[in-house]
Amino acid sequence: MNQMGSVCPRCRSGTVEVQSTSPVAGIWTVYHCKICLYAWRSTEPEENTDPDKYPAPFRLNPDDLAKLPVAPSIPPRRQPATDR
Ligand SMILES: [Zn+2]
Repeated sequence: MNQMGSVCPRCRSGTVEVQSTSPVAGIWTVYHCKICLYAWRSTEPEENTDPDKYPAPFRLNPDDLAKLPVAPSIPPRRQPATDR
């Protein structure tokens, strides 16, 4: 079975690192995937933390990441209307 934090729930890569830990030791851990940038807390439900229970429609294949469309940039802010 997967041990939490060893495999990314979303892309199943093994490039997971600990991003943060609870101020009181052992309460929670935030993990971060270096491939798909998914981050999750150890206390989240299994569908967010277990690769086998992560919803299939939202899974990512690391080989496909380079082929994903780039999100459009935010356009420049409009000038305020001067005719009011
Ligand atoms: Zn990932």
